[in-house]
Amino acid sequence: MYMSTDEIRTAFLKFFESKGHQIVPSSSLVPANDPTLLFTNAGMNQFKDTFLGIEKRDYSRATSAQRCVRAGGKHNDLENVGFTARHHTFFEMLGNFSFGDYFKQDAIQYAWEFLTETIGLPTEKLLVTVYKTDDEAFDIWHNTIGVPADRIVRIGDKEGGKPYESDNFWQMGDTGPCGPCSEIFYDHGDHIWGGPPGSPEEDGDRFIEIWNIVFMQFNRQADGTMENLPKPSVDTGMGIERIAAIKQNVHSNYEIDVFQQLIKQVADNIGVDDLGNQSLRVVADHIRSCAYLIVDGVMPSNEGRGYVLRRIIRRAVRHGNKLGAKGAFFYKLVGPLAAIMGTAGEALREQQTMVEKVLKIEEENFGRTLERGMVMLEEALDKVQGDVLDGETVFKLYDTYGFPADLTNDVARERGYRIDEDGFEAAMEAQRQRAREAGQFGTDYNQAIKVDHGSDFCGYTGTEGEGSITEIFVD
Ligand code: ATP
Ligand code: MG
Ligand code: MG
Ligand code: MG
Repeated sequence: MYMSTDEIRTAFLKFFESKGHQIVPSSSLVPANDPTLLFTNAGMNQFKDTFLGIEKRDYSRATSAQRCVRAGGKHNDLENVGFTARHHTFFEMLGNFSFGDYFKQDAIQYAWEFLTETIGLPTEKLLVTVYKTDDEAFDIWHNTIGVPADRIVRIGDKEGGKPYESDNFWQMGDTGPCGPCSEIFYDHGDHIWGGPPGSPEEDGDRFIEIWNIVFMQFNRQADGTMENLPKPSVDTGMGIERIAAIKQNVHSNYEIDVFQQLIKQVADNIGVDDLGNQSLRVVADHIRSCAYLIVDGVMPSNEGRGYVLRRIIRRAVRHGNKLGAKGAFFYKLVGPLAAIMGTAGEALREQQTMVEKVLKIEEENFGRTLERGMVMLEEALDKVQGDVLDGETVFKLYDTYGFPADLTNDVARERGYRIDEDGFEAAMEAQRQRAREAGQFGTDYNQAIKVDHGSDFCGYTGTEGEGSITEIFVD
């Protein structure tokens, strides 16, 4: 039976409320008091201190529909947008959380009950994974729930990797709470390319991961040893758009109610007939992340979060341009989006005018150099020998026309080329060096905001003119 995205959100929160969970509103996309994280990328972010036992709440079970952005840092799905059926830069994560309350048994039972009874998914389409040594979870799935053993996949560690590099082992940071995961997949049918989790074809879009259940069971010490947590906890996350695709009998997230309406708006605004056009998907995806980032206080800039936002806006504008947009079009999608998002649209409706203004200015500024930059890029691509666009050109596009390197890469990829990232970095570094020597720039090139557990992504550096996508990795 068909369910709208809005109905799914309500059904989920009500289900967990009926199981004693407190409904907690979505937190901001800018994580509060967590400079180690670029953007909120999971429902558990706002409960981090509660899981760590630093913050006490007057409930031990919670549920939420959390807005998330994965467009930089550790989780970066920007390059997937338009290419997979299941990835967005912005999405809503439905979750239920136990803070030292229930554990594996209840977590698995709740998930199964919600999926198969409340929203009626056919059990024979579902597949589950457990961490390879997690016999406890395997037994619950098999003996209590009744999932046939051949539909439970044990997932190990990445080849040559450590347990925490596995898709099925989660950790909050290098030390602290961690534990095995169990993921639920939906089989969209053998007419779609892809294989079950753990198989060589798992990256295909036939078996789509819908729900990730994390069992926080251990406390990793600085020396790598793991102690049992006195009160194990549960953290789960399910992408609402992926469930909507199933309940609306479509394969791709981009075919669900929210996206169909949004894509129609983009097409009408620009004057495009082919609703299946990939650029329409990209624009529809990007307006969601951009609008909500601005709602949550991020402004386009040359550094840190603001630069990630700027990059997404410019990408969207470029795709609009490719579709034939004349003049500013992107900001006009804010109003329709606010209406389409239903109960999750309230914050946007309240700040619609402000968001429109910010986007309009940004889009008009970039629009002035976009066309000239595209001419230069096309000419450069015509001259490429082999399949790599040199770093100097990527840098020049960035420096003169404000093309973030990922935008140039996006265009290059469409033509079957890739960019020389190392060459680009070298050109960037040379520019920084010149600036340091000249001492004439106000920006501190070494300034970096720490994001994502401090273990990989450390921020973006900026120049006076535009901005750089230089991510500093400091493992
Ligand atoms: P995938 O393997 O498909 O990239 P993931 O394992 O990275 O997903 P998790 O970090 O486990 O995802 O997040 C929990 C859930 O959030 C996923 O099971 C999925 O339903 C949803 N999700 C994750 N990333 C995205 C995204 N970029 N767009 C939409 N939904 C997402
Ligand atoms: Mg992912
Ligand atoms: Mg996964
Ligand atoms: Mg997962």
